[in-house]
Amino acid sequence: MEDSRRMKTLDKQRNLRMTRQRQGILEELRKTDTHPSADELFSRVRQHMPRISLGTVYRNLEILSELGEIQTIEMAGSLKRFDGIAENHYHIRCLVCDRLVDAPLTVSTELENTVQGYTDFSICGHKLEFSGVCPDCRRHQSPGAYPDND
Ligand SMILES: [Zn+2]
Ligand SMILES: [Zn+2]
Repeated sequence: MEDSRRMKTLDKQRNLRMTRQRQGILEELRKTDTHPSADELFSRVRQHMPRISLGTVYRNLEILSELGEIQTIEMAGSLKRFDGIAENHYHIRCLVCDRLVDAPLTVSTELENTVQGYTDFSICGHKLEFSGVCPDCRRHQSPGAYPDND
């Protein structure tokens, strides 16, 4: 779809009243910081809206993401995950259990300025994901397998 048409579609959707189902999905997503997949979110939402379908959840997550209300987090080899926080922030992913948590760091515009300074690109943003092993998984590994925090 070309950009102007895409924007028009988005404007139209923005003006549409948020449906009750979409509102419910958004609220459920914002209640958690586990960055659930669509399937996980579906089982949560279904507890309040027993008649909702997985397809409806998928479709509304796509719309919410296009509207900029939520973020999708995609990584090769992993399920698509959803984040109720729309502003850019960094994540840490556990290499063992795929758990995804927010990294306690301020997003660095300095990083973007540096990259822009060294290339011909106009930098519009960046995403950053750290990888590691979460405390639960570390506990189940042999001692000394990973660097310790203390
Ligand atoms: Zn883990
Ligand atoms: Zn997040």
